[in-house]
Amino acid sequence: MASSGLLWALFATSALAQSLADVCTVDYVVDHLPSDDDFNGLVFDSSSVTANPVYNASANGQNNFVSATGLNYCNVTFSYSHAGRSNDTFNLWYYLPTPSSFQNRFLATGGGGESINSGASGLAQGIINGAVAGLTDGGFGGFNNEVTDVILLVNGTLNYEALYSFGYKGIHEMTIVGKQLAKNFYNTSSIYSYYFGCSEGGREGWSQVQRYATQFDGAVIGAPAIRQAYQQVNHLSSGVIETQMNYFPPPCELERILNDTIAFCDPLDGKTDGVVSRTDLCRLQFNANMSIGSSYYCAASGGMGGGMGGGPTKRQFGGSTPAQNGTVTAEGAAVAQSIVNGLFDSEGRQIYMSYQPSATFSDAQTNYNDTSDEWYVTADGIAVTWINMFLDEVSSSELSLNNVTADTLRGWILEGLQKYSGTMQTVWPDLEEFHEAGGKVLTYHGESDYSIPTISSVIYQNAVRQTLYPNMSYNEGMDKINEWYRLFLVPGAGHCGPSDTQPNGPWPLTTLETLIQWVEDDVKPVTLNGTVTEGSEEGDSQQICAFPLRPHWAGNDSSVTCIYPDEAALDTWYPDLNSIPLPVY
Ligand code: CA
Repeated sequence: MASSGLLWALFATSALAQSLADVCTVDYVVDHLPSDDDFNGLVFDSSSVTANPVYNASANGQNNFVSATGLNYCNVTFSYSHAGRSNDTFNLWYYLPTPSSFQNRFLATGGGGESINSGASGLAQGIINGAVAGLTDGGFGGFNNEVTDVILLVNGTLNYEALYSFGYKGIHEMTIVGKQLAKNFYNTSSIYSYYFGCSEGGREGWSQVQRYATQFDGAVIGAPAIRQAYQQVNHLSSGVIETQMNYFPPPCELERILNDTIAFCDPLDGKTDGVVSRTDLCRLQFNANMSIGSSYYCAASGGMGGGMGGGPTKRQFGGSTPAQNGTVTAEGAAVAQSIVNGLFDSEGRQIYMSYQPSATFSDAQTNYNDTSDEWYVTADGIAVTWINMFLDEVSSSELSLNNVTADTLRGWILEGLQKYSGTMQTVWPDLEEFHEAGGKVLTYHGESDYSIPTISSVIYQNAVRQTLYPNMSYNEGMDKINEWYRLFLVPGAGHCGPSDTQPNGPWPLTTLETLIQWVEDDVKPVTLNGTVTEGSEEGDSQQICAFPLRPHWAGNDSSVTCIYPDEAALDTWYPDLNSIPLPVY
């Protein structure tokens, strides 16, 4: 690339030759802001610009990236509004690498839960990789605000600007502005652009890839909260199953069933390490009835589970509970197995799928009434927010499960589909333009995710396969899609992180670096590098297989091989969701 190298030399008097102190000033940033003419309708407020150089900073990567020190960057914020709209302020926050460290990259970051950003700590991942990194407040009134702070103007009046911002526009605008800022700031004409996010942040990533084919060269998408019309309501499935079966298991009883599940299914992958790496085989071979009669004991505050594996296990759930002492009942086993089987309507049709066996029974957690000495279930969390605020448009944290059946949940799902297919549902399956533009997607999902069913990511990839490669066999289509969109199921992992109940499992900490190599150097991640982050094998590295290949070990001391699953195991990933009369993309 001699010619571009020559051009590079000619322009080398630009920002790249300057120090961080030279460029990290309010005046410099104001001079290099995108102009109002760059983007139709965006109006930048130059008086809002802040710029501060930061030297020798450290960053805690938590479960997202490898922690780092010695980071130098420019910390910049400013706001913009939309022409023709009053009381409209969107705040943007960018980290820009010290000029000598800039590697012509931009990184957009997303949020989680009801948030459109994950705070500035995630921006450091960009600095580590020579990228300008950005986040937005979505116009919600501040970086710490959530969409639920503004989604209702008053009861009965949805804030559609906030909805569309959260749905996809906020991240999009932060990205196009950030890419232009990076080009202006470093005086360069082309940059690579990436996305990173998990859970709601994963949904936000898909919202971009599905709409803006050339916006990102690549996206890291973890456990995406897509298919929200189903996903949010589905959090109530466990409680409704308990209510319909009129049995409310003590948490310790479900914990014992979980421990029995893990102990039974652990060796099915060929390696007895406390990690269920083949939850598909587990689904075929374990039934919660096998736990009936198993004893459990949990102390009044914390304590040990009674797992068949014999080792100490952590409590599934926090909060104070009385001592629980008993044996797994037929009713408890039936509830647990029904939860694993998924949600069915009154006509026996499957509405939606559940988590994999070996996932903690998080949604099924019961509460204790010390007056009546009984366990009971309530509706809480993100499902209640969804049903009250997004469906019913009332600001309330109360939702009674009285008279709520699986058919009621089905009705709420249909309502969400009608109302939010263009925003929060986020399952548009035609990624042809993104693929044609050369885009890459590296997506991962904990195989024991307890909050977003692992199957959710599997069936979305399959929907994209069927859309792009309709005339190919399953195997041919999966080979094709794996050239640019790979899904890694992380053995033993929970939701967007490793799991305390299966501590020897790997967790991927270098997904962005892997994606960058794929995009810029054409190094396809045949397997994904994972690191054991806790437990007796902490620090070990393990390779994670790309779906539909599945991990297998020839013995406890061997390394993993990725094998094609047999038909019965493969079929467990594609349940027949025949209750809702629409394709489940
Ligand atoms: Ca195992």
